[in-house]
Formats: sequence, C-alpha cells, structure tokens
Amino acid sequence: QKFVFMFDHEKAVGKKMLGGKGANLAEMTRLGLPVPYGFTVTTEACNAYYEAGEQLSEAATLQIKRSMEKLEKRTGKSLGDTNNPLLVSVRSGAVHSMPGMMDTVLNLGMNDETVKAIADLTHNPRFAYDSYRRFIQMFGDVVLGLDNSLYENHLENYRMSSGYTSDVQMTAEDWKEIIEAYKKITREAAGRTFPQDPYEQLFLSIRAVFDSWNNKRAVLYRRLHNIPGHLGTAVNVQSMVFGNMGNDSGTGVAFTRNPSTGESDLYGEYLINAQGEDVVAGIRTPQPINELKREMPDLYGELVKMCNLLEKHYKNMQDIEFTIENGALFFLQTRNGKRTAQSAVRIAVDMVNEGIVSEEEALLLVDPDQLSQLLHEHIDPEHTSQKLVTGLPASPGAATGEVVFDADKAELLSNEGRNVILVRPETTPEDIHGIVAAKATVTSRGGMTSHAAVVARGMGKACICGCGSINIDLETGRFTVAETIVEEGDVITVDGASGDIYLGEIATIEPEMSAVFRKLLGWADNTSTLGVRTNADTPEDVRKAVELGAEGVGLCRTEHMFMDPERLPAVQRMILAENKEERTKALEKLLPMQQQDFERIFETLRGRPITIRLLDPPLHEFLPNVEELLVDITRLELTDPESAELERKQKLLRSVRLLEESNPMLGLRGCRLGMVHPEIYEMQITALFQAMTGVLSKGIDVNPEIMIPLVSHVAELRETSGLVHKVAKEIGGRNGISLNYLTGTMIETPRAALTADEIASEADFFSFGTNDLTQTTFGFSRDDAEGKFLQYYIENGTLPDNPFMKLDQEGVGKLVESGVTLGKQTNPQLKTGICGEHGGDKDAIRFCFDKGLDYVSCSPFRVPAARLAAAQSAL
Ligand code: PEP
Ligand code: MG
Repeated sequence: QKFVFMFDHEKAVGKKMLGGKGANLAEMTRLGLPVPYGFTVTTEACNAYYEAGEQLSEAATLQIKRSMEKLEKRTGKSLGDTNNPLLVSVRSGAVHSMPGMMDTVLNLGMNDETVKAIADLTHNPRFAYDSYRRFIQMFGDVVLGLDNSLYENHLENYRMSSGYTSDVQMTAEDWKEIIEAYKKITREAAGRTFPQDPYEQLFLSIRAVFDSWNNKRAVLYRRLHNIPGHLGTAVNVQSMVFGNMGNDSGTGVAFTRNPSTGESDLYGEYLINAQGEDVVAGIRTPQPINELKREMPDLYGELVKMCNLLEKHYKNMQDIEFTIENGALFFLQTRNGKRTAQSAVRIAVDMVNEGIVSEEEALLLVDPDQLSQLLHEHIDPEHTSQKLVTGLPASPGAATGEVVFDADKAELLSNEGRNVILVRPETTPEDIHGIVAAKATVTSRGGMTSHAAVVARGMGKACICGCGSINIDLETGRFTVAETIVEEGDVITVDGASGDIYLGEIATIEPEMSAVFRKLLGWADNTSTLGVRTNADTPEDVRKAVELGAEGVGLCRTEHMFMDPERLPAVQRMILAENKEERTKALEKLLPMQQQDFERIFETLRGRPITIRLLDPPLHEFLPNVEELLVDITRLELTDPESAELERKQKLLRSVRLLEESNPMLGLRGCRLGMVHPEIYEMQITALFQAMTGVLSKGIDVNPEIMIPLVSHVAELRETSGLVHKVAKEIGGRNGISLNYLTGTMIETPRAALTADEIASEADFFSFGTNDLTQTTFGFSRDDAEGKFLQYYIENGTLPDNPFMKLDQEGVGKLVESGVTLGKQTNPQLKTGICGEHGGDKDAIRFCFDKGLDYVSCSPFRVPAARLAAAQSAL
C-alpha cells in the first residue's frame, strides 16, 4: 500500500488521500508554480496509525524515509547534514479545511550542529539561531505538549532584563542563550531532552500531527461543520523556504478576491522579514498587500499572474500562502477561500462575466446555508450614534451585546440566553467556543486573515479585527479607547461590515436584495424545476416572500389570523359559547376580519397560488393559561369578591378546564375540530370565497388551494371537503360565477401516508406537514422533545441530527416518498409539496427534488436559499 506521494507524482491522487493541502500542493506543482518540493503522507496512513493503536506501520516508516531521500536528492541538501542541511516543515492537511485546528512544525532538522551550518550558509547567524529557538519552542509546544507560555515567559523576562522592547533587538548571542534555556525548560517540563536526531524529530512530529486530528478544538470544529471523524488528516513534509532572511524576504497570505465584499482585487497582508505563522497567528499586525505592489512591484506582478492562473484552474476564489525568500516568490498553499455570503454571490456572478465559470458552475459556488446572512439585519444607516472606534471589517453583520473578555464566560452567559460580544487581544483556536457563543467578536490585534476573522466569516458572524486603538485590560475586565472606559457587561453594538463599534444599542434594519444577488437567483430559477413557495399568514409576510422570489404561498396558517390581540376576545367568545347560537354570533364578528385578511393577501399575490389551511390547533391555544387565571381569581377573591370580573374569570376557568386535554397534539384539533364544530370551518370557507369573489371582481386572479389539516382517514377529508364544495356552490351561485379552487390535505400522520392512494382519490393536492409527520412518526412531542431528550440523543450520537430541523430521510422521508407514489397511483394529476420547517433546508430540498415533489414551502427569509438549493439539486 502506498502511504506517501511526492508532490510531482505523475497522476492526480485526489483530496481524499492527500488532504486538501496536499492535493493542492501537488496540483500547483503540476501547474508549474514555484512550490518548495516535498511529499504527502496520506490520510490512509493516519487511519492505519489509529487502527494500529497509534503506531506508525513499518511500511509507512520505510516509505517516509525513501521519500525523504528523494527530497534530499532534489534539493541537494540532506537532513542533519553539517554542511548543507535540509530543513522541512511538517503540516497537517485534512480533506476539509480546518483552519488552525491542527498542528504544524516548522524548521525541522535544526539541531546544535545544523544551526551552525545555516548561520554560515546564510551569513546570518541571527536568523539561524532565531529559527532554531522557534523550532525548539514549537516542538515543545506541539510535539511534547508543553505549555507555550513556559517559553514565552522566559523570553519576555529575558527581553525585559536586557532592556529590549522587541525581538528585533535580539542578537545572535541573545538567541544562543535563549536556546540553551529553552533546552533546559524542555528537559525539565517534558522529562526528556530535546532530540538532536532530525529523523527522530521528523517521526515524532508526524505522529504529533496525526494526534492533533483528535485534539479538542479539532473535534469541536468538526462537530460544528459536520465533518466526519473517520476521515483522518494527511501530513505534508516540505522543504522550508524562509521569509525571515532579511528585508528582501517576507511572508503573506492573500485571497485572490476580497473575501468580505467579493471585489475583484488581490486582497491580503504580508510581513517583511517574518515566518509564515506570524501572519496567521495575528500576533504582529501585518501590512496590506497593496503595499507590496509599491515595495516589490515585479514580484507583486508575478503574484497576481499566478493567482489568476490558480483561479482559472480551480474555477474558484483562492486563499493562498506565499513566502518570499531573498526576493524569490514561493507558493506554500492554495485552497478555495472562505468568504461571506455577499462576497460569494458577487464572485460567482463576476466569474461568469469574466468567462471563468458557466452560469451553472456559478450556482455551485454559493452555499445556500450562507445566504441568510445577506438577509440579516444591519445597522440603520440613519442612526445618529457617535462611533467609539473603528477596526478592520472582518466579517459583516450587526450585533448588540454585553462585552465579555473570555471565551468560557462568553459561552456561559450565552447559555443563559444573554447576548454577548467577545472582546479579545487576539483569538487562538482555543477560543473557538467563545466565538460560537458570542454574537460578534472584536480583536485588538491581527488582520483580516487572522484566526478570529476566518472562523467568524465561516459562521456568518460579525467580526472586527485589528482594532488597535482599544486597550484591553484583561485583569480588571475593561477596555479603554482614549478616555472612554468600557467595563465587562457594558452593552456595545458592532458593525462587522464597516468595522465600527458603538457604545450602547443601535437599531438594525432589514437589508435589500442586491442586483448581483437577483441575477444569481434568476439563473437559479432558470435551472430549477422544483417550485419554491412560502409559509406566510399576513399580507406583509406574503409581500416580503414574493419580493424574495416565492412563487406562491405553500401554507397560510389561518389560526395566526386569530391570534391578533384585537381579535382574541371574539375568538374566545366563539370558543366559550355555550350554544350554537352564541357561537354563530361570535363567528359573525370574526368573518369580516378573516375575509379582509384574505382579500389583502389575494391582492398581494395577484393570481399566484395559495394553499390556505383551515383552522388546525387545539382551541385551548387561544385561551388564557390555567395558572394565570387562578392567580387572577385568588387576587379578586381577596380584593373584590362581588365583582362581575371575578364571575367572568371563574366561568372562563371552568371552560378552560373543560377543554383541557392530556394530549392536545393528538386531541381535538385539525379536521376533527372542523367536523365537531363545522360552523368554524364554514365561517372560514365563507370568508375565503367571499374574499375571492370580491377580488376577482376587481379583475385580479385568485387561485386558492384549500387544505384540510391532520387527516388520517379518507372519510375525514371527504366530509370536510364536502363542506367546502357546498359553500363554494352557494357563494358562486349567489354571484353568478363558478369558483375555481383546489381541495387537498396535509399528510401529517403515518396513516395518511400509508393510505395515500385512498386519500388522493379525494384530493387535488398533498402537502407534507413534516413537522407533525416527524412528531407522529417518531412519537416525539415537537413541543417537549428538544428540551427533554433530543439534546441527549444528539450529543450522544443516538441520532445524527435533530429530526425537526433535518428531515429524517430514512423514516419520515420514506413516508413522504411512498405517500407521493401511492397518491399518484389513484390521482396522476396530484400536486405535491412540503411545508414543514424542512422546506427551507438544502438537504430536504434535494430529497424533495429526487422524489419528484412539485414544490417546497418555507418561511419568507429562507426563500432565496431554497431557490438556490432547488437549482443545485437539478445540477
Ligand atoms: C407541519 O406539521 O409540518 C405543518 C407545516 O403544520 P404546523 O407546523 O402548523 O403544525
Ligand atoms: Mg401540522
């Protein structure tokens, strides 16, 4: 079995084996880019390592040695050689990019002897000894698991006692002293000496990288991004080039386009005379790449040319790492760049215009899950608040919250339901849980490509970086900007799009859809065959959804029209009526209100289809809750025992008690309610058809699809739709027209799905209510499961996902699939859709497409993402 591949291995081996970084290094080498030579130890070697109880097999060991020899031959240097030593980097590289989560070792091959050779060869002893001390420190930290602060504190003390203010002042002699001290620190803390044998260094480092696949932050990152744990990481061993050889050397990272806005310009930062990790770690604040254009114009030109080459090759925006060694440019890494939704959309459209990708390929460049970011709120530009300070706009979005300075605390407070903004000097991968928990992250150091920025952008959270004018005092828990003091717990508002920070809370507003966004979604609609409707109950929501591209309404929950506080008293009178007469009277009051709602919605829709569901929830949802009533009654009994109010409340309590059910979700609701109290449905149907005739008479088309909820037996549908037809006939007759409408049902119970053939003979359409269908199929209460046991299931791995969020394709999905198939057997014209929460999820959308449903329906703000996901399903 082949465990190791040289970068110029003749055929492409693929990411699965080589990891993203390894595959790209090989690809760049093949494209003729200047890549320092090296080899990749495969993910299979990593998996074999774990299978063998964390042992590197003999075969892998041998292959690594052989590859090392090839590398030596190619570079003319050799590991441990005292005249011309080879130095290498050892880096992790999994299939999915996990920025900063796993380990890296640089300058490997340095020891007491080779350091002298490097000093001679480079005529730069200071550089050589600095590199050696960096290596010992990194080795101690990464490979031996020592606390980095052991080294850092020592260095800090040394600097202070020498009267230095920065590392630049350290001489070769200083570094030599540091090296001796570092070796001692290592020996004492690790209980072993720092290994002088480069091969021992190499194999220990490779093992350490394999081990880092399972470190805490990598595991958490994988969980957050749904990356399976069995993939393993590859290891890349590559000859070192040095960005810290002097002022004609440097290192940088760049995106081929702006990852925040999508602007088509090289975007990034670099540091002169520095080594790779200095930039990414965000410890020194680097220069913007535009400066490089000025400082080294030829090299910049070369960089741009190669970036264009990479973009054309990968058909995607790239995130590259480069090093300049004595004026020569080297590429160390390329990968598809993480970007904000705004940037993703713009890049996709620009790349079509530039002829790099086709419209269809462009659709695949945007992740539907990201799009909600574009529809997120931003700060009201009309606000008049004075900004406190501005940093780098690292990830857009607006957020308000309490300042916290610690990732653990951010997590703690957020679990209590508080909004927090994490403020840190810089973030490291150890802070990731804090970034997850916070509404936004602010750092005082580090650039747009620092850890905080990359992680926040990936999660669509606001982030401001490199905000150098804030002075953070972690000890006292406060930060200052000039004279202003902000204490932990104070509320601030951040605008990740501009980098501005404000004191206090500021209003946010809804965003508009940009022209490029519309264009991309237009391409999506051309490609897609699956319809996208919306779940909306008010004219405002319907208007919003149509604006966002909904083809119609897939679910109008009429009970939401009852919840309006002004209407609730009439609704309650209707529910509490003691006889039919009283009930009819209350319903007569509700009818014009309901009718007016329908009229406004029909006018907004202008002929687009709308699925209107008759009343579904159990009636007690409209009544006050028992405890509250009891409190009121007790109070009145004490203060005003003779009052009419007390009598009314007591009567209310009796009625509420009468309606109480031990299992309301399985009780008197849905079509059962409509059958037991037909006057309620009759009122709704009357309102609907009267609205329809009114709107039709204005010359506006209306296409209602009347939906009967929670059917489990065909007879329920037959009886209820009989009522619909009767009312339609009456109202149509009275107006001298015949009304066009469809009747159908929700499929929300297993029995309905299992007898879909019978039900379809009475239905024009099915809409799968996957919320209830999940509830009834699993037997999980949708109101209680999440709080009571689902979390356990998910954390424990009993279930991969929350089935109320991610459609359970094997179980609930099977009922959907067979429901469609059975239904079409008896009614080939049957229209089918899904309207549960899953209707906006990209995986469920693909499932619906695969199973031949006609449309999905989701909440208005999810419509754009659903349009894109629908198009991607068809590609
Ligand atoms: C459903 O059950 O999936 C549905 C859409 O209806 P509701 O959420 O209103 O019960
Ligand atoms: Mg339902």
